[in-house]
Amino acid sequence: MKVALDHVGIAIEDLDAALAFYRDALGLEVERPEEVPTQRVRAHLLDTGGASLELLEATAADSPITSFLKRRGPGLHHITLRVEDLRAALAQLAARDVRLIDAEPRPGAHGSLVAFIHPSAAHGVLVELKQAPPPRPALRLEIGSIAWGDLTLTALHDGPFRLDGGAMFGVVPKPLWEKLAPADDRNRIQLAMRPLLVEAPWGRMLVDCGVGDKMPEKARDIYALDRTRHLDHALAARGLDAAAIDVVLATHLHFDHFGGATTRGADGLVPRFPRARHLIRDAEWEDATHPHERNRASYLQDDFVPLRRANAVDFFTGDVTVKPGVRVERTGGHTGQHQIVYLESGGRTAVFVADLIPTTAHLQDPWAMGYDLFPMETLAFKKRFIREAIDREYLIFFEHDPLVAAGIIRERDGRRSVEQVL
Ligand SMILES: [Zn+2]
Ligand SMILES: [Zn+2]
Repeated sequence: MKVALDHVGIAIEDLDAALAFYRDALGLEVERPEEVPTQRVRAHLLDTGGASLELLEATAADSPITSFLKRRGPGLHHITLRVEDLRAALAQLAARDVRLIDAEPRPGAHGSLVAFIHPSAAHGVLVELKQAPPPRPALRLEIGSIAWGDLTLTALHDGPFRLDGGAMFGVVPKPLWEKLAPADDRNRIQLAMRPLLVEAPWGRMLVDCGVGDKMPEKARDIYALDRTRHLDHALAARGLDAAAIDVVLATHLHFDHFGGATTRGADGLVPRFPRARHLIRDAEWEDATHPHERNRASYLQDDFVPLRRANAVDFFTGDVTVKPGVRVERTGGHTGQHQIVYLESGGRTAVFVADLIPTTAHLQDPWAMGYDLFPMETLAFKKRFIREAIDREYLIFFEHDPLVAAGIIRERDGRRSVEQVL
């Protein structure tokens, strides 16, 4: 058995006094606290480079930490040793008659497995064994559906791509964002493109349609565009193809959202969805067809001009219900006319938030993209919207998240997270 010191747990009575020593006097950085509801404990981790210190605060009178403090006062509570295979480690210890508190692994924090050894077997020290969780996959491209009143909502995908991590998080320093979105050797983070399929009594709609296949080799390399699995595969998994789509709605006309609307035919560029009407906000069309230096690289004329030539565009003005149960609202911020899409049916609300909250790593109000043309507008809209989304438990579709297609934003003790639904 190979063991490594993971952390040392210290029971504390007074958090401020403990931080005055461990954080301020020793100069250690303290991470956000972690609640362990089953133990009625709040844990504050301090990284010491390799192993950590864990300050343990009781959150209820019946917490094991409360009884520990009564018995022994503040001080060393346990040490945690990491093992590769916890079940095998417990079997080995049991074979040597080592007294265990847990004969079987049980769930610990962050998807780990843990088990305690009795202090009498470890010369007076409570020893926790821990098996780290398997590394999170970097990308998940399964498609998932949910019934939504009269509608069926399906998060599709148009494959993965990567964008510069710095640009994706704007003014947020890398040490903060890279914990949530690890960067590759070219500083890019993993993203997905997830158009939404809405199946309704009135027809089938796509909200955005991915990047498509027109991108030249150099740009494919810059954006790590991988076309092994894309929108055609996702539609096929649903028993559909491009000809089955009646309506394509654009949140905005950036290439990673609407590049998939056109394709190269024998006689040049043609609509990719041959039967579809394309619903585009008139003012967004105006901006996209008159780009300036700052957004020229994102508005590629070949993505949308051929649609108009083919007479396949229906323009609309302002915040409107474009189809029964499908309503758009301008957010501005990212682009002047960027909009999000509300899906309202059977008394429930889902929202496709496009580039307003591109991933689940963008839940904090000021965490906005460097790409945004009007960041203060993004901030104002997002602040109001996320509050409303939490209070009303909206189902949020994240277009660019590499792992989570849809979920509900929760807030506890000022800390936001997403409860994954799809
Ligand atoms: Zn965009
Ligand atoms: Zn985007």
